[in-house]
Amino acid sequence: MRFPRQLTLELTAKCNFRCPYCYCVWHEYPALAKPELDATAWRTILDMCAADGVTDLLFTGGEALLRSDLFEILDHARRVLPEARLSLFTNASRLDETLIKKFRRRRIHLATSLQGLATYGAMTGTRRSYRRILAVIARAAELKWPMAVSMTITKANLAEAADMFAAAALSGAQAIQVGPVIWGGRAAACPSLMISRNAWEEVKRRIRALPDAHVPYTFCDEFICSCRADTPRPLLEKWADKNRAPCPAGKTFGVVGPNGLYRTCLHAMPTGIRRTGCAGTPTETAKGEKK
Ligand code: SF4
Repeated sequence: MRFPRQLTLELTAKCNFRCPYCYCVWHEYPALAKPELDATAWRTILDMCAADGVTDLLFTGGEALLRSDLFEILDHARRVLPEARLSLFTNASRLDETLIKKFRRRRIHLATSLQGLATYGAMTGTRRSYRRILAVIARAAELKWPMAVSMTITKANLAEAADMFAAAALSGAQAIQVGPVIWGGRAAACPSLMISRNAWEEVKRRIRALPDAHVPYTFCDEFICSCRADTPRPLLEKWADKNRAPCPAGKTFGVVGPNGLYRTCLHAMPTGIRRTGCAGTPTETAKGEKK
C-alpha cells in the first residue's frame, strides 16, 4: 500500500481535555489507540511517507503536545520531507511563545480550535476560559506565525457561533474552519449535541453577515459521514445530500492512528475492530483543577 499525498498522523490518544463532541474514534473503538507507537516507529512511518511522496502531513492526537518526544518526531519529519507542508493541530493548552517560535523555526504550521466563549469550559470538559486560547492565537499572529482555527458547532455553543468566529478573526487567526458536530467518537454517545441542518444554515448566514475581517474561512458541510458503516440509518437518511461531492477518503488523504493502523479517514476504521462503547458523556466534566 502507498500512502496518499495528504496524511494525518495521530501521535497519541492522550488528551488533557474532555470535549464532549470529540470525534476521535478510540472513544468507541479503544483497540485503535493502543499500544501507542514510540518515536522510533514514527520515524519509520515518516521514512515511508518520504518514499511515497507525501506532500502534506498533519500531526495531531489526542493532544500531540503531551508527547515528550514530539520534537524528535517533528525534526525527523522535517529532515526526510524537507519540502513538505508540515502542520500540527493542538488544543493549545500548553502552547506558549517559546513553543510557537520552535514551530516557526521548523516551518511547522499551527492549528487549534476555539470551542466556545461562555461555553468554553463545557465544550472542553475543563475549567478553562476562552481568554487564554484567544491570547495564544493573538501572540502567534504577533510572532508572524498565525494559527488556523477550527470551530465545531453543537447545540451548546450554537448561540455564540458568530461571536466565536469574530473573536478568532479579531485575535489574528490565519484562517477559520467552521463545521457542525458530526456523529462519531464521544459525540456518538451525545446525540443531544447534534444540530439541525436549518440551525447550521443559520450559523453560516450569521457568519457571512459579519463585517469582513479579511480572514479566509471555510464551512465543512460533511455532517454525517458515510465512511462510518455503523452510522444509524435514520441519521444517514436525514442528512443525505445528493449534491455532496464523492468523498476522496483514502484516495488523496488518509490517517495513521496512535498504534500505527492506517485508516482512510478520521471517522473510518479498519475492518475487524470491535466497538466497545464510548468513554465520556456530555455531562461529564474534568475532575479537579484546571488541567
Ligand atoms: S477534541 Fe478535545 S478531547 Fe478530543 S483530542 Fe481534541 S482537545 Fe482532546
